[in-house]
Amino acid sequence: MTAQDWISTGHLPSPEVVQELVAEAHRRFQPVTEGRVADYIPALAAAPPERFGLCVAGCGGPLFEAGESRVPFSIQSLSKPFMFALICQAIGEEEARDKLGVNSTGLPFNSVLAVERSGEGLSNPMVNAGAIAATSLAPGASLARKWAFIQDGFSRFAGRPLEIDRPVYDSEAATNRRNVGIATLLSDHQRLWWDPEEATDLYTRQCALSVTAADLAVMAATLANGGRQPVTGEQVIDPSHCQHVLAVMVTAGLYETSGDWLYATGLPGKSGVSGGLITVAPGKGGLATYSPPLDEAGNSVRGQLTARFLSARLGLNLFASTPDAVR
Ligand code: GLN
Repeated sequence: MTAQDWISTGHLPSPEVVQELVAEAHRRFQPVTEGRVADYIPALAAAPPERFGLCVAGCGGPLFEAGESRVPFSIQSLSKPFMFALICQAIGEEEARDKLGVNSTGLPFNSVLAVERSGEGLSNPMVNAGAIAATSLAPGASLARKWAFIQDGFSRFAGRPLEIDRPVYDSEAATNRRNVGIATLLSDHQRLWWDPEEATDLYTRQCALSVTAADLAVMAATLANGGRQPVTGEQVIDPSHCQHVLAVMVTAGLYETSGDWLYATGLPGKSGVSGGLITVAPGKGGLATYSPPLDEAGNSVRGQLTARFLSARLGLNLFASTPDAVR
């Protein structure tokens, strides 16, 4: 038996079916008007609420797109799983777990209480505290070296060089004192591995990287594909790390509403405050949506509706089964 025999996933439906369902999801959810565009980072507040794009990337490489799938926006919290993946690759998944934690906080993404409550300063890498701690572990003995590691790693996931959205970076850097506070508290618990101000700056740059839904779909598909980028063919991280990254996404990818998300989709997902949402179907592919209006927990409203619809119609739910044939 090879390792392959132990992998319990199938394939996407035919390309025609996937394209039609992607187009249908766009038609269905474009008219939705619920949710509010985030404004605590001033540069994000101007995003048009009607903006909506989606893309499915199969593990075999094809892209299926609808709407504004090539409109750039800042990656924000969607950077968290990829940063965690790069850190698992750099220091190993056990050390990454010991240093960052992998349990749900049940609290909002920017919670300070999440750091204090465990007594050890542990949270998980999908919320700001664990994510800033993960960023502080980036290899390199200087800010510049660490940033080069991060930018290069993200670019390898995307399959093209990613750049910072300057206005978003400047806007968040001018207003991110809460994240500096979280980093300082982590440092006090010996849970930060770099200077708090610089670690927060690196995290803020990472969150300001500019991507499209098409980029994110391919990045998500890399996590669905044992760490191999489906378009460039590059092995970005080892297969064993992917399953750990996906496990943490299931636990906390949509913060305190991760349970509702899992109940609806049965898949690992991650949301971001600029309106992005990624969903990973292991062995099959990645889905990314971009739609700025968010629910109370900071998750894209149209994105969640799309993921729920496509999970069901593309047969992606990891928990779905049908009875075995009668023997
Ligand atoms: N950069 C944002 C922050 O730290 C990311 C949060 C998010 O996307 N939920 O506040």
